Amino acid sequence: MHDDNKQYDAIILGSGPGGNAAAERIAFLGGTVCQVEAGRVGGTCVNVGCMPTKAMLAASERFYEMSSASEMGFDPCRPDLDEQAFCARIRNVAETLNRSMRDKLDRIENVDLVDGYGRIEDAQTVRIETGDGDRTVHGRALVVATGSEPVRLDKLPWDSGRIWTSNDALQIESLPESVIVLGGGALGCEFATAWAELGLDVTIIERHERLLPGLDGMASKAARESLEQRGAEIHCSVEIDSARAEKDRILVSDGQNTWSAERLLCAAGRTERLTGFGLETIGLDRSRGPIPVDETCRTEVEEVYAVGDVAEPRKHAHLAARMGTVAGNNIMGLDSRDDRRVVPVGVYTHPEIACVGLCGEDGQTDGDDLIELREDYAHSGSAYVRNRRAGGIKLVVDQPSGRICGCVWIGPQAVDMIQEVVLAMRAGMTLQQISHTIPGHPSYQELLHTLAERFEKQQISSRRG
Ligand SMILES: Cc1cc2nc3c(=O)[nH]c(=O)nc-3n(C[C@H](O)[C@H](O)[C@H](O)COP(=O)(O)OP(=O)(O)OC[C@H]3O[C@@H](n4cnc5c(N)ncnc54)[C@H](O)[C@@H]3O)c2cc1C
Repeated sequence: MHDDNKQYDAIILGSGPGGNAAAERIAFLGGTVCQVEAGRVGGTCVNVGCMPTKAMLAASERFYEMSSASEMGFDPCRPDLDEQAFCARIRNVAETLNRSMRDKLDRIENVDLVDGYGRIEDAQTVRIETGDGDRTVHGRALVVATGSEPVRLDKLPWDSGRIWTSNDALQIESLPESVIVLGGGALGCEFATAWAELGLDVTIIERHERLLPGLDGMASKAARESLEQRGAEIHCSVEIDSARAEKDRILVSDGQNTWSAERLLCAAGRTERLTGFGLETIGLDRSRGPIPVDETCRTEVEEVYAVGDVAEPRKHAHLAARMGTVAGNNIMGLDSRDDRRVVPVGVYTHPEIACVGLCGEDGQTDGDDLIELREDYAHSGSAYVRNRRAGGIKLVVDQPSGRICGCVWIGPQAVDMIQEVVLAMRAGMTLQQISHTIPGHPSYQELLHTLAERFEKQQISSRRG
């Protein structure tokens, strides 16, 4: 076994958005890093997550629009779908981004990227199992950025070969004719959107009473409408109690009804990657749930940090990256703290759905100083001229101060659009201040401005009695 005498400032387990942000920040601040990656550089996000799913959705949206745009003045055509090329592009996007991520890390002088499986021996020592044998590395700090993996429900017959996790569904070479999507959360709705747009028979089964159960009811409604319009069948409040494979189909049942399809996507959530790499040796072992960290991303063990999916119930690449940066700052002696209240959530259905802040259950504003303001794209000239009239905005506002406490934005590029609200919330801006900004015209941003002006007018009227 090779023992590296070099003492690093940090050893980082994982090269997803969390691990990479930590590595880059430490190197930027003059520190040295040994970054260990057991799988593919870029982690879930680049290889089997954000990027390939968005590539898939961009392509399916183009396909769907070409076959359904008669309102824009041309005969709808149904383009030929080259399944192999469609699937290959998704894999190629991941491949290209993986390569460029590796190049980027290789170019950072102070980061030694090691391909291998890291096992924690103690808080300063990691043994790495590489293709060329084991080596041991030492660091002043340790960052656990091992991410998460798909939940595999026990009740499904995995050995049938008919069941996919999201990882599998992004590696395929051709498309089935029908799919059951088990789970109507963000991930399930995104896959269902793409597949329904391509004309597959899609059945979504969700055990909660609505799609996107963690988000606002307005988001659930929009997802349902859009998916139904694309031909998906949706069954909510259904708990599957048995599943079996038969000939070339998979069948699932809740005891009363049975649904069948060629394939089933298990989209039942993700679970933290916690076992098999020695967390127990430093007293951080837990059977489930994120590793607890404070706002500096420190765990309860000195000089051990945890960032990203392994340390947060909200599994988003941008949050993982931010946590990585915070951990990197702290390892290099800066006092960096994080306020994780204002974290946008994006669901890339068509239209897109974005939420931030208070936007959980409907009715949560009851009995407070909070009020809701809503406007639909149906009343927006900008949306009308682009023929994109589905969606709208809901703001939750603290009436006395005029500050935004939450927002649901549904519409084209809603995830980009909501960033203006994110900025306003972070900066503590009021709706009066927003109403004094000048949005470009025509633009989707005008809808936010409309709400801000409406609020300002209400304030003026109430002051004038
Ligand atoms: C289908 C899908 C779509 C998604 N879409 C979005 C989206 O649109 N927007 C968004 O914000 N988020 C999205 N996410 C979530 C996002 O991908 C994750 O939140 C993000 O990748 C988490 O980053 P991370 O660094 O914590 O972990 P990961 O990206 O999971 O990286 C962890 C890395 O650690 C490595 N590793 C684990 N154990 C070891 C070990 N012992 N030694 C060495 N290496 C190890 C793994 O191989 C992996 O590469 C999506 C996820 C999925 C599955």
